[in-house]
Amino acid sequence: MEAALEHDPSSQQAWHLACSLLHQPPHGALRQLADQHRQALVGEPVTYVVNRNLNFTNHCLQHCSFCAFRRDAGQAGAFWHSFDTLQARAQQADQAGATELCIQGGLNPEARLQGSSLRYYQALLGALREAAPGLHLHAFSPQELLFIAEQDQLPLQQVLEGLQQEGLGSVPGTAAEVLSEAVRRQLCPEKLSARQWCAVILQVHASGLASTSTLMAGHLETPAHRAAHLLTLVALQQTAWQHQRSGFSEFVLLPFIGAQAPAALRQRVGRDQPDREAMLALTAQARLLLGRWLVNHQPSWVKLTLAGATEALRWGCNDLGGTLMEETITSMAGAQVGSQQTPAALQAAARSLGRPVRQRTTLYGLVGEPACA
Ligand code: SF4
Repeated sequence: MEAALEHDPSSQQAWHLACSLLHQPPHGALRQLADQHRQALVGEPVTYVVNRNLNFTNHCLQHCSFCAFRRDAGQAGAFWHSFDTLQARAQQADQAGATELCIQGGLNPEARLQGSSLRYYQALLGALREAAPGLHLHAFSPQELLFIAEQDQLPLQQVLEGLQQEGLGSVPGTAAEVLSEAVRRQLCPEKLSARQWCAVILQVHASGLASTSTLMAGHLETPAHRAAHLLTLVALQQTAWQHQRSGFSEFVLLPFIGAQAPAALRQRVGRDQPDREAMLALTAQARLLLGRWLVNHQPSWVKLTLAGATEALRWGCNDLGGTLMEETITSMAGAQVGSQQTPAALQAAARSLGRPVRQRTTLYGLVGEPACA
């Protein structure tokens, strides 16, 4: 994708614009411009989703340099939850009014049924659907999807079809980190490449599934890497829309948390918690750069704190994400905010800015009546 941008004059123009935009320091005019764009594209309402995270295992065969979540089997802190446990949590979420389960885990080579990785992941979705039939299953990053295909030596399309048969409703656009091969060589050399991430996303969208999109920022990347990443997301969205596909439902900025990250990267970055001002500026820059191609922008309250995420609503965001009910990945990385929010807390955050607030579904349909502003 980066190579394609280099050979297209209009893309080169966009590249230079993007780079210059991303060099701008945080200031009031940038915030105001992003806020105006947000108003023009999606208006005043702030949305949120009532969901539950299910991180079913942290056994993982990879060793990403930023990851405090992964464990080897048998290591202190390792877990691999049974279907019974996961079903009980799904039922609790259902009873608490959730509309979505967000299901992600480590790359666990032991997660197989009758020798097949795909059968295990299908059975996992089937078990959750049985426990909580109405909930949307938002599951498995592009890396996990590729892992299943590689484990079983199956075409990705067959994996997607098999999972859709068991109720897969949409895909988290995580594992994107920064879509630069150079950064990935340092950050996550074992992970799928930037090119592979794009290829998986194209196939996910072609299968009729929507995905989210993410950028993990505030570590080794430069403004040029950020610009290339955001323009790549635009190109992928353009492809989806040209073919009348849903494409990306939202963009989520994921600031890097270093507190419990492996020492080597933590020391290089030299910061345990995100640089809030820099991340707010990037929030505004992303709103301006992604333009009409990605209308829903979500800050991460897990990484920025709820106060930080609330402030991000003034820098171009229109969504507060999910209640989560449990969160493992960022908590293990050393985030300081806890692992759940109540709907009331998210509503209060939006109302503190005088903005109306609405509960949404995973794919941005509204749930019930709009809440009072
Ligand atoms: S980020 Fe994901 S793939 Fe990488 S080590 Fe952690 S759990 Fe494994």
